[in-house]
Amino acid sequence: MRTLGLIGGMSWESTATYYRLINQHTRAALGGLHSAPILLHSVDFAPIEAMQRAQDWQRAADTLVTIARNLEHHGAELILLCTNTMHIVADTLEAELDVPFLHLADATARALRRAGHTHVGLLGTRFTMEQPFYRDRLARHGLSVRVPDAPDREAIDDAIYAELCRGHVNDATRQRFLAIIDHLRTAGAEAVVLGCTEIGLLVQPSDTDVPLFDTTAIHAAEAVRAALA
Ligand code: GLU
Repeated sequence: MRTLGLIGGMSWESTATYYRLINQHTRAALGGLHSAPILLHSVDFAPIEAMQRAQDWQRAADTLVTIARNLEHHGAELILLCTNTMHIVADTLEAELDVPFLHLADATARALRRAGHTHVGLLGTRFTMEQPFYRDRLARHGLSVRVPDAPDREAIDDAIYAELCRGHVNDATRQRFLAIIDHLRTAGAEAVVLGCTEIGLLVQPSDTDVPLFDTTAIHAAEAVRAALA
């Protein structure tokens, strides 16, 4: 199995889920006491969040490229960036690395297409929902993407930074997310992408009959498949 390099800590609440899922999939595939060879660089999220707020994407890209190269230097053979939002600098990472980079939106798009979906809703931070980098990447796979309206986008973004990234899981927030998911379905979405790695801590597929695509779960599963291939 190839060694996985994880760039995590954005936030660590979801990186913990990645760690658990990757090891569970590895055990399921290989049995016994097998677990995944992983190198993890978990950042301090506060300065990264400040760069996001300032939209200082160049500095964010420089920071993440340094980390990714370091993981590669120490033996990582496949790199994962464990956040949707920071895929805003994914093109730079892909260009700078010698080892493969498993793009989160590509993995998600493949899962959606395998399930037969073409019209999807997208939840995530305001950057993921409003800037083109993520929607365009999904569109490359033939998907048409709908995002919630402005007040709902603001509520989702607030919940991600003020609650989920701090480990707060709140039932009123869950109900709000479920109402937004329903609304997207009414507007024509066949499935909804949980395009923030913390949303799965709040909303589970069993909470709704709208098909949900949890990017953390998809990325972790695809990473293990790729590392074993
Ligand atoms: N983990 C989140 C994501 O998947 C949000 C935190 C961040 O901005 O990196 O987008």
